[in-house]
Amino acid sequence: MTHILHRAIHSKLPVAVRGQGIEIFDADGKGYIDASGGAAVSCLGHAHPAVLAALHEQLDTMAYAHTGFFTTDVAERLADRLVDDAPKGLDHVYLVSGGSEAVEAALKMARQYFVEKGEPQRRHIIARRQSYHGNTLGALATGGNEWRRSQFRPLLIETHHIDPCYAYRLRHEGETDEAFAARSAQQLEDKILELGEDQVIAFVAETVVGATSGAVPPVADYLKRIRAICDRYGVLLILDEVMCGMGRTGTLHACEQDGVVPDLMTIAKGLGGGYQPVGAVLLSGKIFNAFANGSGFFQHGHTYMGHPMAAAAGLAVQNVIRNENLLANVDAMGDHLETRLIERLGNHNHVGDIRGRGLFRGVELVRDRSNKTPFDPSAKLNVRIKREAMARGLMVYPMGGTIDGQTGDHVLLAPPFIVTDRDIDTIAERLGDAI
Ligand code: PMP
Repeated sequence: MTHILHRAIHSKLPVAVRGQGIEIFDADGKGYIDASGGAAVSCLGHAHPAVLAALHEQLDTMAYAHTGFFTTDVAERLADRLVDDAPKGLDHVYLVSGGSEAVEAALKMARQYFVEKGEPQRRHIIARRQSYHGNTLGALATGGNEWRRSQFRPLLIETHHIDPCYAYRLRHEGETDEAFAARSAQQLEDKILELGEDQVIAFVAETVVGATSGAVPPVADYLKRIRAICDRYGVLLILDEVMCGMGRTGTLHACEQDGVVPDLMTIAKGLGGGYQPVGAVLLSGKIFNAFANGSGFFQHGHTYMGHPMAAAAGLAVQNVIRNENLLANVDAMGDHLETRLIERLGNHNHVGDIRGRGLFRGVELVRDRSNKTPFDPSAKLNVRIKREAMARGLMVYPMGGTIDGQTGDHVLLAPPFIVTDRDIDTIAERLGDAI
């Protein structure tokens, strides 16, 4: 009998007792390949010796110092590293403890930026339908999933949603990518004009859509068009790379592949690789300067922001990625994973699409492959596939409601960056069997 309030109150979960490399072991000694990285978190797998050594050292030195009293060498070094490696223009950083906190901070930064600039009338946020940006109230209001939001209305901030720009052919058949990207981006301009040219604070989107849609990259040029529209109306662009960022897609930041630099970018999950809870907002000089030249501070803060243990984990993970040249492995193993998934599942009658970038891949499940009809939600494919995969010693991240919050199913794969060809072969084999 557990006293923990799990998300699913009645679910019976195995007890995890040990993690090593790409596997987690339960109390019976059974190993599970962590092909989802938890939820795209464990980018270095488990018990990486370099990360453990850095954490032990930090713990011996000092576990905690409140940022109201001190800065710390470890937090400064992490911030320097994040800024050095960020797309040009993102030259400041705000450290938090996770993805939702990063999104909350970014939203408040965006709002305060306009207050500092003397444009307090701007109060609208625009995001996309079906999106997920976290579970705290501001992040929840920003996300576009009605099922998650409905019980918590009225939500605290005014968010408006436009359509996502999914590359999934069936849903824009007969249209070129260029036309689809243009039409999708045009929705942003229409929404800004509907709300008022000088009324919108920010547009928020994931660069590559993760949990809600299963590793869907943007259609070519979509984000460039979005960037141009934001610039035209002085709207800030917030890219949420909590899930797709920090190397997951083969470049440190996913948006590098789209040639777009946002005004604010949220990162978390892979930043600390699961070794500590840590997240951050990367922000442009123009936002930093508005605070510096205005009220002099960002009106926000959390007890654990800049936590030395979290910073030590972030720094150690970033060092390992660099020292072990892991982005190249993400690229190579990502290609190998795609190949194996296509071989194993490409002709499967219930697989409608295989997509993604790097070690961030999605397999969409359909009732009928010829017309891509989705399964009825009552089939509960996500529950069944997770169960079948776990029985085979495989952790994957299946999700329902891909298309409209109710119907549509996919499986998300986000294995650690340290995987080998053989690991990938096993993952594809076990997933194929589970499906
Ligand atoms: N944004 C995105 C894109 C996410 O995928 C998530 C987590 N799945 C979050 C924000 C929230 O992060 P956290 O769960 O760490 O609060």
